[in-house]
Amino acid sequence: MLNLGYDIAKFRSDLFYDDFNSRLAATGRAYAPHYVLWDCTRRCNLHCVHCGAAKEKYSAELSNEEVKRVIDELAAMRVRFFAATGGEPLLRSDLLDVLRYACGKGLNTGFATNGFFIDEAKAAEIKDTGISSIQVSLDGLHDAHNAIRGNAQSFQNAVCAIRLLLAEGIPVVTAATTITKMNYGQISGLRNLMAGLGVRMWRICLVMPIGRARSSELHLEPGQLKGLLEFVEENNKNGYPVKITLGENMPFLANFEKRIRSEPNACPVGFTACCLGVDGNVRGCPEMPDRPENREGNVLEKPFAKIWNEGFKKYRVRAAINDSDCSCCASKKSCFGGCWVMHEAQGEQCIYRLLGEKPPLTR
Ligand code: SF4
Ligand code: SF4
Repeated sequence: MLNLGYDIAKFRSDLFYDDFNSRLAATGRAYAPHYVLWDCTRRCNLHCVHCGAAKEKYSAELSNEEVKRVIDELAAMRVRFFAATGGEPLLRSDLLDVLRYACGKGLNTGFATNGFFIDEAKAAEIKDTGISSIQVSLDGLHDAHNAIRGNAQSFQNAVCAIRLLLAEGIPVVTAATTITKMNYGQISGLRNLMAGLGVRMWRICLVMPIGRARSSELHLEPGQLKGLLEFVEENNKNGYPVKITLGENMPFLANFEKRIRSEPNACPVGFTACCLGVDGNVRGCPEMPDRPENREGNVLEKPFAKIWNEGFKKYRVRAAINDSDCSCCASKKSCFGGCWVMHEAQGEQCIYRLLGEKPPLTR
């Protein structure tokens, strides 16, 4: 399919990746990541059926001083964006203090929350940190959201949080939905709800085969995934006020790619993004299990810049496309082997196969 804007963006992004690796080989220093996600706590007040964060427990979290020391390093490297995720980030009593500090150092900041603890005073406090964006999870209409999140008050609190954050004028308020069989039938109703709330950005991702969601019962059937992508295509083409982005684990969309996206969206791990873990271990992204093979180094032992420059080797050589399934795929230079988390959880990561199709072969 011809999409000139997409093709130009793809050309530029290929140049960036080539340049990234050439510079690294020549100087031993990579370009700084655009964004660092801080997996700030695994504590959570809810018990979501799809939670990937349920996979690890920690005995210690980075202290306030330790995180601020990393932020100093990120600011010196000119990292653009620092955002917290969890668990529920607001269960860290110093979260807003840390984000305010990062803003003061010139970083754009944000965090992802279930919204449960955000009342009028907290929304004002959040705005006052200078935050640029916030993401609130909304996984279904009233009963479905409460069943998915395991709490009868969670829907009401999330909706209330979205209203208050929008009223505070935080620059970007995004609603986020993990799509499973439990809420697939509600996507249209959810869009109406969001439009009514005044939400402009809606981020949708697929459930990951990790943590509590390892079971396949939650995962979409191929026809449902196709229906979801058709819904997103129709939504964005027809200019609905709620813009949908497909996040996290959908780096490539097969035949829907150019129909839905205006620019490519390969997995950013090791090139433009990485994750600072709860106890200081740096890994690819928050969804990636915190296991020794995924750790690139610990900020309590080594400077962040050294970890960034010297680690992430398999991501930077796009090692996943050497797998037998991917090596002869005609889409491998756009997909690069799909999502690493789905790949390594030995779930299905190939978007064609998730859609019930066969990947195209190179000629
Ligand atoms: S075969 Fe591999 S490279 Fe090709 S689309 Fe599937 S996951 Fe991506
Ligand atoms: S590994 Fe998967 S979830 Fe993590 S950044 Fe890459 S595509 Fe996204």
